[in-house]
This record gives sequence, structure tokens and C-alpha cells, in this order.
Amino acid sequence: MPVSRTFVMVKPDGVRRGLVGAIVGRLEAKGLCLRAMKLVSVSSAMAARHYEEHRGKPYYPELVQFITAGPALAMVWEGREAVAVVRALMGATDPAKAAPGTIRGDWALSITENLVHGSDGEESARREMEIYFSPAELSAGPGSTASA
Ligand code: ATP
Ligand code: MG
Repeated sequence: MPVSRTFVMVKPDGVRRGLVGAIVGRLEAKGLCLRAMKLVSVSSAMAARHYEEHRGKPYYPELVQFITAGPALAMVWEGREAVAVVRALMGATDPAKAAPGTIRGDWALSITENLVHGSDGEESARREMEIYFSPAELSAGPGSTASA
């Protein structure tokens, strides 16, 4: 599997609780490479794009309300099998079922306020990166061959 990129977000609960450093530290410690990062206030329009596959679900209004409620940290991480590796580090969607040692397993209990988002495939990773980052932001940074 070649090096791939994934979109990761520390959701508003993680920023509010001061867990940005701890969460970013786990991804760094695993050996993933940080390629883009910014604090964002997720608008209703961005939330609707991000979670479009969940529209109509009973939990959708709460999900959108939560993700737009405060600043979140949007990031792009790169590495071998980055999508699957980040999903494994995050743990199960429901933190009550997430294994100890995972981000959700160690620090969350609410299924809505579950601290992190990670893309669930290569295609969603590409789609989600484009919601939160411009092409210039995605091509910038160390290791890039793009000029400014
Ligand atoms: P995320 O997409 O946020 O990384 P995930 O991929 O683990 O989480 P998804 O199935 O994509 O889980 O669901 C997106 C979000 O919707 C979850 O993080 C969770 O907050 C919420 N959600 C999903 N299923 C439920 C449910 N059954 N009840 C309440 N909230 C849910
Ligand atoms: Mg998901």
C-alpha cells in the first residue's frame, strides 16, 4: 500500500477540553506526518457537506449542531495506510465500545462528543480535505515540490 493521506479533525469537544496536544501527539508518535492543520469554525454548509451521508438519520441534527458549536482542528496526515491507521488509533464510533488505548476508548464516553473524526476511505479523504483546505494549503509544506 503506498503512502496515502487522510483528513482528521479534533472535534469541538476535544478543543474545548484541551486534548489537542494529546491527540496530535498520538498521531505523531505512530509515525504519521502532519501535512496541513488549521483551527476552523465549521459552518452549517460545511457540516452539511462533511456529513452528507448521514442526512435524514435521527442523530443528524445533533451531529451538525455539535460540530458547528465551537472551534475544531482540521488536519491532513500522511503515511503508510494512513486512513486505516488513523481509524485504528481513534477507536470505535461509540466510545463506550472503543478499546482502551484508543483516543475514544481512553478519553470519551458520548457517541456525539467522540473527540475525533477520521476519513473512512481514500475517496472520502479526498472529498473531506477539499471541504476544509484550499488546493494551495494541500500542496504546501515540507516535502512538497510545489512552488509558493
Ligand atoms: P466520524 O465520521 O465522526 O469520524 P465514525 O466514522 O466513527 O465517526 P460515522 O458512522 O461516520 O462514525 O458517524 C459520524 C458521526 O455521527 C459519529 O462520529 C457520531 O458522532 C454520530 N453517530 C453515528 N452513529 C450514531 C448513532 N447511532 N447515534 C448517535 N450518533 C451517531
Ligand atoms: Mg465517519
